[in-house]
Amino acid sequence: MTILQVRDLHKTYEPAAQVLTGISFKVERGEFVGVIGPSGAGKSTLLRCVNRLVEPTSGEILIPRTVLNPDANGSMMNVLKLSRHELRLVRRKVGMIFQQFNIVKRLSVIENVLAGGLGYQSSLRSCLRFFPEGERRRALINLKRVELLAHAYKRASELSGGEQQRVAIARTLMQDPAIILADEPVSSLDPKLSRVILDILKRVCREDGITALVSLHTLDLTREYADRVVGLKGGQISFDGPIQDLTEAVVQKIYHDAK
Ligand code: ADP
Repeated sequence: MTILQVRDLHKTYEPAAQVLTGISFKVERGEFVGVIGPSGAGKSTLLRCVNRLVEPTSGEILIPRTVLNPDANGSMMNVLKLSRHELRLVRRKVGMIFQQFNIVKRLSVIENVLAGGLGYQSSLRSCLRFFPEGERRRALINLKRVELLAHAYKRASELSGGEQQRVAIARTLMQDPAIILADEPVSSLDPKLSRVILDILKRVCREDGITALVSLHTLDLTREYADRVVGLKGGQISFDGPIQDLTEAVVQKIYHDAK
């Protein structure tokens, strides 16, 4: 089942930076897709267009209606054409993980995770006291899944970078996402910690049937974790295929050959 279809996506940052110039690809449910390409190729822009953290200039981002309502018919809806209410619902089903973790350091670990249940709300502290017991239980279960249960009541600032990224994964799981967009989730971590994070991310995605689009900065990690690769170059797709087709010649084309 197709969970995401991007059609002829364009993004120009005003006044004239044409970053994406006609991107089209499809993602099947449960795939773990590596998004690669040279710095500045538009990976982050592409991921942010999917949930409209960046507003696309034109094109279509299609996801099935069943993502919002399992009883809906199987037709696709265009994320660019949704009402504000529908967009809010879609954003809850599309989790996001950032390079810099984006957790609130002065709050406890569990408070950060509980915040995921609130979606994109930012005025947290006042709401946090009122979380129902069931939400707290879910938060603890998700912390266990990222192997951080013992740290639940620590201040987030006491955690290492790798642990903070695990908090971010647990927080995203609170949204019960259908898709996770991870924008360079391990590029500020060393190779060993990067693998810890990607192991956890891949495991929870597999367990929950979550589809992941993950931009990765090294080919080693891409080869180890991605089932499939979308390569960007100069605002266009330069490669789209299964990981075993990511040959040296393809890598050369994505990273080194002139446009
Ligand atoms: P990548 O993630 O592949 O490094 P990005 O999507 O971050 O690429 O950036 C692609 C290009 O878009 C870069 O040239 C960058 O400078 C430009 N860019 C990104 N964000 C903005 C912005 N808000 N305004 C103008 N240009 C931007």
